[in-house]
Amino acid sequence: MNAQKGLESRNFDVVIAGNGVLGMSLGLVLARRGQRVAVLGEPHRPWAGTAAAGAMLGCFGEVTTSLVSSEYGRTKLELGIRAGRMWPSWLAELEDEADGNGIRTADGTTVILNSIGTAEIDDANFNAIRAELIRYGEPFEDVDPLDLDWVDGEPISRPLRAFHVPGEHAVNAAALLARLESAFVQAGGTLVTDMATGVEYQGDRVTGVFANGERLGAGQVVLAAGARTQPLLDTLPVGPRIPRLVSGYGVSALVKTVDGTLPRSVIRTPNRSFACGLHLVPRGEGEVYIGATNIISVEPREIPEMRDLIFLLQCAQRQVRRSLSVGGVTKIQVGNRPVSLDAFPIIGEGGMDGLWIMTGTYRDGLHLSPLLSQEIAARMLGEEGEADLSLFRPVRPPVQAWSRERIIDDVVEHQIGIGYEQDWKLPVEWDEWIKMDLRPATAAWAEEIDPEITPPPELLFTSRFVPDLVKILREYYAVSREDG
Ligand SMILES: Cc1cc2nc3c(=O)[nH]c(=O)nc-3n(C[C@H](O)[C@H](O)[C@H](O)COP(=O)(O)OP(=O)(O)OC[C@H]3O[C@@H](n4cnc5c(N)ncnc54)[C@H](O)[C@@H]3O)c2cc1C
Repeated sequence: MNAQKGLESRNFDVVIAGNGVLGMSLGLVLARRGQRVAVLGEPHRPWAGTAAAGAMLGCFGEVTTSLVSSEYGRTKLELGIRAGRMWPSWLAELEDEADGNGIRTADGTTVILNSIGTAEIDDANFNAIRAELIRYGEPFEDVDPLDLDWVDGEPISRPLRAFHVPGEHAVNAAALLARLESAFVQAGGTLVTDMATGVEYQGDRVTGVFANGERLGAGQVVLAAGARTQPLLDTLPVGPRIPRLVSGYGVSALVKTVDGTLPRSVIRTPNRSFACGLHLVPRGEGEVYIGATNIISVEPREIPEMRDLIFLLQCAQRQVRRSLSVGGVTKIQVGNRPVSLDAFPIIGEGGMDGLWIMTGTYRDGLHLSPLLSQEIAARMLGEEGEADLSLFRPVRPPVQAWSRERIIDDVVEHQIGIGYEQDWKLPVEWDEWIKMDLRPATAAWAEEIDPEITPPPELLFTSRFVPDLVKILREYYAVSREDG
């Protein structure tokens, strides 16, 4: 029991800590279903991933050879496919309920394979996306790169192949959040503009949250505070049994094009260099979103590192459109993707009565939001739900989606890929020589972290430079062994 005496108290059916896309979407679904719901979070959304997202509504564009080689990855892809089918009605309802411009900003997605990068990553992932589009019967058409009229990269970075997926769009994340908020209030929900500072519990049952000297009592509590869910989990006895959250810190930018033109669709590369691929998303009124970097960081970040910003903008002007270099940068955005220590979502009952967790969505939580909010709302109301989320239950041993050998190969290939994307110049043999030493060094490092469990590639890579990450990986592995 951790009750605090003498606090003002309000009571709700459900209290949700976190006002990003997941907390707001869940709050809306529950409020529409007659629950008394409070959503907590400061209005300027510090650390949020949602606010910095390009907000691509895509799951095929996210496919990699690794993703579809594992049961966990394929399950995630199939959740993404279901979510994709929900967006048209989800958006139509939101757009009906408020005035203003539409939320959707891009019509389809064009995936390009350009000459930057490596065959092992770029060609392989480009082909993997096509293969999954075919497998699931999702329409797409090949496009001659010469017909990509808005794309005008440097000659040495030009696209060699391309295809267009008409069903994968993008939205304006800020407009989406605004609509979710107004629809939530209209449905009778309460916005509490403070941060939750802790979760109240008695024995095995959570009973509310604390915020700014107030107790918000509730029969059910949802933690959906993105990468900052961790400090709240740390206030609960179950916390150490759930994969810790770190941040996939990312930089994105909004740029006004010099000629006022925009592409109609998202233009993106496949995922590469441990990140979500280079992508440009039209935002209307001559403005384009450029995204995004992804660096694993133990603590969420609020300001970008200069090198990340330089890298992002360089990639956009060189690989997609040279005249972006004389465009006006209107906003630089920093966001934190909620990344669990095994890199898979943490979704469902949280291991104490009345506790729910909805986070760890990494690169595509915005896309998944209509699905996850409806699935979790159904379960909270005692219904079964339609999708199987059991692989992503919060209290679990670390997901081992890939063999150690495969993870080491991925680390080596992506590390080398970063070099090519940064335009390094090497004598031809050096690529092979570096790999010869990098592979055994990475394998030895994996062994040093743990003899059996291997962190996912980007965490294994980052852990070599970040001792705090090694510490939390080992602590979580130790607790999961005690749990058996
Ligand atoms: C650069 C970038 C690009 C991305 N692009 C895409 C994309 O194209 N498509 C896609 O689907 N996904 C994308 N993502 C990932 C996506 O943004 C996330 O998966 C998703 O937004 C996570 O939503 P969330 O609500 O869980 O967390 P967040 O958006 O991080 O929101 C959490 C909220 O909780 C608040 N909070 C923190 N602590 C507390 C507390 N103690 N009490 C109350 N509130 C608290 C925060 O201020 C924040 O507002 C991208 C992410 C980044 C960073």
